[in-house]
Amino acid sequence: MKFKAVMMDFDGTITEKGSIFPSKEMINKIIETARKMPVAFCTGRQLESFQRRGLGAIVKEIPPSEKKEILENIFLIGENGSMGYFFDKKTGKYKEFYRAKWDDDFLTKRKLKKMIGEKIEEYGEVINEHRVVLVMRAHREDDSPIEEIYAKSKKMFEICDETLSDYNKNYEKYLHLGDSGIGVIICPAKGDKDAGIEKFAKFLEKKRGMKFSKKFKEIMVIGDSAQKGGNDYYFLQGRFGTPFTVGHFDKTKPLPTPVLNSKNKRLLHSKGAIYLLENIENL
Ligand SMILES: [Mg+2]
Repeated sequence: MKFKAVMMDFDGTITEKGSIFPSKEMINKIIETARKMPVAFCTGRQLESFQRRGLGAIVKEIPPSEKKEILENIFLIGENGSMGYFFDKKTGKYKEFYRAKWDDDFLTKRKLKKMIGEKIEEYGEVINEHRVVLVMRAHREDDSPIEEIYAKSKKMFEICDETLSDYNKNYEKYLHLGDSGIGVIICPAKGDKDAGIEKFAKFLEKKRGMKFSKKFKEIMVIGDSAQKGGNDYYFLQGRFGTPFTVGHFDKTKPLPTPVLNSKNKRLLHSKGAIYLLENIENL
């Protein structure tokens, strides 16, 4: 397989479990990769949070003379796949290139917030910063152990699943629910991370003249929350791209592929992502 682009989840994939920023080694690997091919981050975060906490750390390490060229190869598929941004060289800013639609006929976001808000209060809160998706972040103190945050996030997921199932037992046709470990995301079914892969590929075909085979197999896709209910579940099913997992792995399923080192040991989180980027031309 000759990979032509890469798309990665952010939290738990290029960062270590529980940490907000990628390591310097990871950042250097991302910059090196972006010199060769388009790199997209696919995260639950919205643009501003990504720029503040994710991209900002990467930009600092890019040599100033290369900044524009490299940023042109760094894309953001935000809000869990519901929004896409590219770097516009002319204005020096990230610009939207697609936005998924929330199906108000099924259930408005306002009503959904009302249905869920109070029930999750004990475990987390609704964040009102996203343009399309509804996000709940687990309560955390500076010294909260990550396991405690995971547990709160899981609890919120269960509450949302129950509430939505009561509203309509086929809700998954309209809305997808995902647990990222630090929070819960509800997005339009057509605006999940798998849709993000397709939008990213089509942008590259149209604007960069790149060519992909059916299902865009030449896009390497990396994530960690591959379990049913995880926010990479749809991302790593293989509907589009070639998926790898650096987190949850089910050996009874053909995809996603786990990342193994030369001693057949699994590489998790950023260790797995670094290994994949290092070997992207030989896999
Ligand atoms: Mg993740």
